Amino acid sequence: MKIHEYQAKRLLADAGVTVPRGIVAKTAEEAAAAFTELGGSLAVVKSQIHAGGRGKGRFKEEPDQAGVVLVKSADAARENAERMLGNTLVTIQTGEEGKQVNTIFVEEGLNIANELYCGIVIDRESGGPTLIISTEGGMEIEEVAHNTPEKIYHEPFDAASGLEGFQARKLAYRLGLPAAAVKSATSFLPKLCQFFLDNDCSMTEINPLVVTEDGPLVALDAKVSFDDNALFRHKNLEELRDLSEEDPSEVRAGKAGLSYVNLDGNIGCLVNGAGLAMSTMDLIKLHGAEPANFLDVGGGAKVDQVIEAFNIILEDDNVKAILVNIFGGIMQCDIIVEALLEAYDKVGISVPLVVRLEGTNVEIARKMLADSGRDIISATDLTDAAQKVVGTLNA
Ligand code: ADP
Ligand code: MG
Repeated sequence: MKIHEYQAKRLLADAGVTVPRGIVAKTAEEAAAAFTELGGSLAVVKSQIHAGGRGKGRFKEEPDQAGVVLVKSADAARENAERMLGNTLVTIQTGEEGKQVNTIFVEEGLNIANELYCGIVIDRESGGPTLIISTEGGMEIEEVAHNTPEKIYHEPFDAASGLEGFQARKLAYRLGLPAAAVKSATSFLPKLCQFFLDNDCSMTEINPLVVTEDGPLVALDAKVSFDDNALFRHKNLEELRDLSEEDPSEVRAGKAGLSYVNLDGNIGCLVNGAGLAMSTMDLIKLHGAEPANFLDVGGGAKVDQVIEAFNIILEDDNVKAILVNIFGGIMQCDIIVEALLEAYDKVGISVPLVVRLEGTNVEIARKMLADSGRDIISATDLTDAAQKVVGTLNA
């Protein structure tokens, strides 16, 4: 689950991480009032969407308007907010369709001496959390990683004890920070790492992390996402969810206990097991077509779930055929066919449907399918299934 910058900054402030002062605005008037309330001569008007690259991003409806703008008056805050609210911001991370801005964050403008990059993720190599830090802040870290990887430091830290003081000092010296900033870093970095651990984050990214002219480090931007599988441990985070930022089909699938990811192709997939779902997608590609989705109904494949899975797949107008690929392990194939037939009748499937079954009671299940009288194409193995479903596109 992702959250907005202003929400992330509130949580970070509660965890003792220094962030600029800021005020949320839902209207242009509120943005102007926020400028006045902050009381400085410089503020930043920031579009709130679940994507980065806002500073360089532009609005579809207002092609000259950036998603993050420095302003020097309440009037300028109002005018910028006016051009942002309700409009669609396109950034390098949103894709062409962009994202609608419904909330503005007005923040005090800081005097920046230096912009650093700082991110925390789970690192497969070290098998735990790792702090990534670089002198090259404020720009695309992917580009830095590609062109000058030596400018990025990776510091794995212990998931129980967090980032140790000596690790923070070592990184601060490597970054060549001035003395006051070194002192600030030894408190800032461990607190940031602790925040990551305490909230079961999958990512915490501060880009830029700024060194201010009077010394301390401040998180100028904040991108935070949480591990969905750990959300049950953090009831306080639930209310931060913004469903308008999420794909409606994925939200619906989540409610039905399905793992679903919407993709660009035209073959809908209904599979039990994540690994099998991945290989099903590979096979479809191998035989010259593109999957419309990843969908794992899980080990159980209950009738209600299969019905909902078909509904979600068919909601996507790009879907021209469906491949059901089921391995019956503990769950017997005949039970799954029962669910499948019931779902077939209830949903009313309007596109060709190819079914490949394997595993326990597969013979009984195949006979049930063949005798069912429904318009279902039966496949014997993975390749056969992929060829048949791709074949329906050209038929
Ligand atoms: P994004 O990464 O989505 O473009 P940022 O929050 O990183 O958005 O803002 C873009 C740039 O705007 C920053 O790199 C920084 O130079 C400037 N900026 C953002 N917030 C402030 C602030 N509070 N004071 C001064 N400059 C800021
Ligand atoms: Mg940023």
